[in-house]
Order: sequence, then structure tokens, then C-alpha cells
Amino acid sequence: MTVETSPTGRTASDLPTGGAGDAASDGATGSADGDTAAGRGSDHPLRRHRETSLTAEELAAVRGSLSPSRASDFKTCPLLYRFRTIDRLPETPTTDQVRGTLVHAVLEKLFELPAAERTRRAALALLEPEWARLTEAEPALAELFTGDTADQLGGWLESARGLVDGYFTVEDPQRLEPAERESLIEVVLDSGLRLRGFVDRLDVSPAGDLRVVDYKTGGAPREAFEAQALFQLKFYALVLWRTRGVVPRALRLLYLKDREACDYSPDADELARFERNVVALWSAIERATQSAEFPPKRSRLCDWCAHQSRCPEFGGTPPPFPELPSPPRGGDQDRPA
Ligand code: SF4
Repeated sequence: MTVETSPTGRTASDLPTGGAGDAASDGATGSADGDTAAGRGSDHPLRRHRETSLTAEELAAVRGSLSPSRASDFKTCPLLYRFRTIDRLPETPTTDQVRGTLVHAVLEKLFELPAAERTRRAALALLEPEWARLTEAEPALAELFTGDTADQLGGWLESARGLVDGYFTVEDPQRLEPAERESLIEVVLDSGLRLRGFVDRLDVSPAGDLRVVDYKTGGAPREAFEAQALFQLKFYALVLWRTRGVVPRALRLLYLKDREACDYSPDADELARFERNVVALWSAIERATQSAEFPPKRSRLCDWCAHQSRCPEFGGTPPPFPELPSPPRGGDQDRPA
């Protein structure tokens, strides 16, 4: 592992590692940052149009599928994984999650402009049109600000402006030319496990070095979610390494609320260990599914869980374990057969 000082002086060594043997410790429920079942995860409605990049032959080899969000769910709390992935219980997105979706949309749109036009002013001007576009595509989002909460929309948009403004203190988009944005990346490991996810941004240097960039917009205490953020980036690094044969030179987290960037440099040995851990995690998910046993795991992250009312840790009762139909070819459902 190589540690690099970030532009703001913070080092990647400040981050918890998500490597070998830490399946119990580095998960987090991503419910505060929009990268959740109900937020910006790979199953977000605004991303459903994305198709697979796998060949028919690769798809035929798939025996299960896992995204970083669902892997983190299981590591955080097996019962949370069950609620989201097996029971598929609906979750109403929070205003923090939807703000994350909006800010990501603005930053994606910003990079469609010619470099010289990617100014702070241009980015802020994109906010309201992007909000209109998102609510048109997903009318349920607008319902967050109806009735008693209608007068909160202005303040919420203002907070989104603050995050977009924060982006300009950690990067200068006029000096960047991303290779890919909101890009679906996926691979089928030798074990038949398909790993897939969406990368916020991928930068490629003229020398071919890769940098994976993830924007963090959550309003919750950041330390509660850093482990999950790094797990997610390592997951992407593994997929890129396996598909392109290059270990990304940098994994970059941009915390827009705190206006901080944090860079982390993985190496091949670390990613190989990480791969073994992901496969072991998948085996644990398969065993849990076969036995229908997904115990709750209480932590401070329960504060962000949408399912407390059904959780035994909070006096609730989970619904009966469902009969599981076979997942479709290619294992799209993030769960075992
Ligand atoms: S509230 Fe229950 S289901 Fe949700 S994360 Fe906590 S222990 Fe898991």
C-alpha cells in the first residue's frame, strides 16, 4: 500500500483499511450518503437503464452477483442485507440521499461542458434544472417537499449549493478531462462471482494511470462511513484491475461537505487479498441464504437504518423469510440462488 498526502494535507493512512480479515469491521450502512438501496446505489431507478458490459459467455459463467453497496450491507448487518436484498423492502429516500443524487447529477453535467466553461457559477446554475430533470424522471422525489415540508425545499437547495461550492475548493474541473463518468464496471471472477458497480468518475493520465474518484455528499458524521467508502473504492479498483490489467494509481474520496480530498493508493497484493475477502463474503451470504439466518448486528449505524421497526434489536419482528425464485441468468439480484 502506498499512502499519499491529499491536497488538503489529510493522508490516506487516516482511513481505516478494508483489507484482509476485516469483514466484520469495515462495513457501514450507506444510508446517509445516498449510496443505498434507496439512494444512489447501482439499483437506483435513474441508473436502471444501464445494460451489462459482459459477453454472453461471461454471463453464462455467473453464479452470483454482488455490488459494493450490498456487500457493505452484509458486513454492516446481515439482517439489513436480508431486508434490502432478499425481502426487497422499500425504503423512502431521505433528503440527504436525494441531495446526493442531485449533486452527483450536477457534477456529471458540469463535465459535459467545455473545460473553460466549467466554472463555479456554471455549476450552481445547473442545480435547479437538474432538480427539475430528476423529479420529472422520478416524480416520487418531488414528494419529499410537499405538504408540511414544502417550505423546506429552498433551504435544501441551498444546502446542495453549498456542496457544489465545496467541490470547487477541492478540485478545479477546468484542469480535468475525465475518461468516464457514472460508468458501469463489472467483472466475473474465476469463482463465478460477478462484481459490478458504478464509478462516479474515472480519470486516466496520458501515461495510462487510473484514478477512481468518488464524491461524498452525506450529512452524517463522516467517520461512521469512511470504512464503507474505502471498501467501495477498493471494490472498484479490483474490478478495474481484473478487467484492464492495471492497478489504479489512486482512489480519491472527495468529501464535499468537509471540503476535503483523500487519496489512497492500493497495490496488487492488497487487491488480491481484497478479492479473497469478497469471495469469502459471498460464501457467507450463500450460507446465510441457505439457512435463512441473517442475524441483526447492532451498531451506531442503526441510527440510519430504515428498518428499525422490523428489527429484533429494536423490539420488532422481521417478516417471514420469503420463498426465493431463481435469480435471472447473470445473477442480477445481488443474491445467491
Ligand atoms: S436497525 Fe437492526 S436491521 Fe437495521 S442495521 Fe441495526 S441491527 Fe441491522
